[in-house]
Amino acid sequence: MKILKFGGTSVGDAPSISAVLAIVKKSYAAGERPLVVLSAMAGVTNLLTKMAEDAAAGQSFQADLKRVEERHFAIVKELMAVKYQNPVYTKLKLFFNEIEDLLQGIYALRELSPQSKDLIVSFGERCSNFMVSKIAAQDIPEALYIDASHYVKTDSNFGQAHVNESLTDQLITALAHAHADNLLFVTGFIGSNEKGRITTLGRGGSDYTAAIFGSVLNAEAIEIWTDVNGMLTADPRIVKKAFSLPVLSYTEAMELSYFGAKVIYPPTMIPAFLKKIPIVIRNTFDPHFPGTIIQFDAGKTTLPIKGISSIAESSVINLAGSGMIGKSGFSGRLFTLLAREQINVVLITQSSSEHSITFAVNPDDALKAVKLIEMEFELELQANKLVQPTVEDNLSVLAIVGENMKKTPGMSGRLFYALGRNGINVRAIAQGSSEYNISVIINKVDLAKALNAVHDAFFAELKKTLYVFNLGTGNIGSTLFKQLEKQHEFLSEQNDVEIKVVGVSNSRKMYFDVDGINLSSWEGTLEGAGEVADLGTFIEKMKALNLPNCVFVDNTASKLPATYYEDIFKANISIVTCNKIANSGTFEQYKKLRDTARKHGVDFFYETNVGAGLPIVRVLKDLMLSGDQIIRIEAILSGTISYIFNNFKGDASFYDVVKKAQELGYTEPDPRDDLGGIDFMRKMLILARDAGHEIESEDVDLGAILPASCLAATSVEAFYAELLRENKFFEDLKERAASANKVIRYIGKLEHGKVAIALELVDENHPFYALSGSDNIISFTTERYKDRPLVVKGPGAGAEVTAAGVFADLVNVGA
Ligand code: ADP
Ligand code: ASP
Ligand code: MG
Repeated sequence: MKILKFGGTSVGDAPSISAVLAIVKKSYAAGERPLVVLSAMAGVTNLLTKMAEDAAAGQSFQADLKRVEERHFAIVKELMAVKYQNPVYTKLKLFFNEIEDLLQGIYALRELSPQSKDLIVSFGERCSNFMVSKIAAQDIPEALYIDASHYVKTDSNFGQAHVNESLTDQLITALAHAHADNLLFVTGFIGSNEKGRITTLGRGGSDYTAAIFGSVLNAEAIEIWTDVNGMLTADPRIVKKAFSLPVLSYTEAMELSYFGAKVIYPPTMIPAFLKKIPIVIRNTFDPHFPGTIIQFDAGKTTLPIKGISSIAESSVINLAGSGMIGKSGFSGRLFTLLAREQINVVLITQSSSEHSITFAVNPDDALKAVKLIEMEFELELQANKLVQPTVEDNLSVLAIVGENMKKTPGMSGRLFYALGRNGINVRAIAQGSSEYNISVIINKVDLAKALNAVHDAFFAELKKTLYVFNLGTGNIGSTLFKQLEKQHEFLSEQNDVEIKVVGVSNSRKMYFDVDGINLSSWEGTLEGAGEVADLGTFIEKMKALNLPNCVFVDNTASKLPATYYEDIFKANISIVTCNKIANSGTFEQYKKLRDTARKHGVDFFYETNVGAGLPIVRVLKDLMLSGDQIIRIEAILSGTISYIFNNFKGDASFYDVVKKAQELGYTEPDPRDDLGGIDFMRKMLILARDAGHEIESEDVDLGAILPASCLAATSVEAFYAELLRENKFFEDLKERAASANKVIRYIGKLEHGKVAIALELVDENHPFYALSGSDNIISFTTERYKDRPLVVKGPGAGAEVTAAGVFADLVNVGA
């Protein structure tokens, strides 16, 4: 036979109960005679607890009681034929009257003992089982309600009672014997002590009830039916990418649940383990999914770990002092004391010098633990052999679990790298003696981020998610979104990365969505649902969301974002940018940004600062990293100027060519922003700095293209007028080039740590002679590439190629 246990969420409402009964009936129809264990309806145990506490505090509990009653009645009404309803209402009403009487008593006395609390919460399971057994009995007359408190005998440790195995064994055996032909619906969670007083087995204890019955009855399997597809690699409410584990060993399941994986109550494993009965965790709402089987042998797997779990609320107590050195009995005394007082110690770490012990407890127990320690070690404290114990709150425990861990080196390294890279401070570390788990204590605010980052780090076969905050929705930003949307599937299949744009802002509006903004409709969303943009707020919000693998993308050309870069790195967020401002400011700032990014282990990528999508920054970096020496860099890095000189020949006047370039959208609104050379200068400055030179923009020797009068013109029209007036100057230049069979090029040069940009006439032997259209070209002459320089050439401007360069940088973040 099998035990089928259904949790609170499986009996939370009418459709769920119908799903439960479909599973039970199917088993019954197949000739099986399962034993069913049910929890209280979802939320009812919590509500009963709250009512009891409210009553003790002199507050009203009536409204809550009414709610619970109505939830049950509504289900009877919906799932039972009218002719069967009355006796069920009556019995339920008797239960609720009893609860009300108890609560009245508590209210009058203003006193709530653990014993009364157990009695009150026990009605949750009693009501749900009675009710569901009657609903089932409409189709299966053998269905019978069983109050487990008559069969599960325990000690008097109310709230978390221990089972008297031999007595329980006898009673359950007799029960099964007497009802061999019945379909039993057994209340989970509850038992009774030797005086017959109701006890409970601890929160989540219905799982344990199922295991107790399974063990006594030698069930072939204990099926725990819940609302998820088995035991997952992490809590799916926090880690969206958690996936279901087909097989776990009892030990693994125990460790995972001990460290917070709520899906199964840890003590459940013990009776099953002793009798080698498999536990299967399955989904009531997806009954065809096989779920997770927990058995003796975890089987073979390629997963480095099985899962990551966490205890969200934890306090840490630190004990230090010379009194501990070499005193082998010290920790014995300490932990015996805590065990005697039922304080559960979640994790212990001891420094190798034995000078200090740190241990984690439930926050509710922390002050009690300190008081106990003060009493037990009073003499040591007085003699200053022990320092006054301290408590730290608002901490969480995160644990990675798996049997493979002890065979695989580097697990802790991977864990700490993932935490460190995301700026998560580790307060204490413990490796379980079983080597099946490594646990760390971190700040509670970092928990969700840590779980996701560690999940990404260990389940590499899964996609890594980058969370992107994009500033700027002009040409480049919007093109990037188009490309991201188009490449979505390819990326996740080929590159194992998923890029989620979770924040977007332009100068007017900003919008956030942690689940990822739909890139096919971002414009409407930003306009419609966005709030008024403010860069400071945008960045604060980005930091506050505390997401793992986070990237800030600056797709603007404005000065303001750069002032935040350092701050962003300090929050362990990487930056990808096509904005040149930060890198071409002072050298001090240039250096500071790199130092900060390095210190915080994040990336700073700006390939599109030079030559748009062309691999220039990366090539230079690779040359430097591989120990090559840069002798000279020569480059044409302005697509606009290239276009102009490539077309400035024959009959065309300079005026015509510039006008045409502007019409084609190749120039800035004021063409002097290109022809003045400032943008080119910035690119050369960045390259020179990346090549290792400490250089400022004033150090660049920037040769002019235009005569002074053109530069001085006060408007764009006036500028064009000056171009016409200076026609002879330009014609002379063209004539000089043509007569010498040369072409005009505006070339930047880096040599001996000096940068110069100037107009040059080059002949056909020069590698820059054949440049066409608006292409960029750069040639690196190095120790290795001395005779034939390394040349990169191609389109160096335009939204498509620039966005593609930003995209490539993004994919490389964290790689
Ligand atoms: P039930 O009401 O069936 O007893 P619980 O609420 O006790 O269900 O446990 C199921 C819940 O446990 C799931 O809904 C899920 O959100 C949560 N959970 C936390 N960690 C895990 C995990 N590692 N695997 C599966 N579920 C988990
Ligand atoms: N109803 C109890 C609880 O909520 C027992 C259980 O659901 O397993 O803790
Ligand atoms: Mg549960």
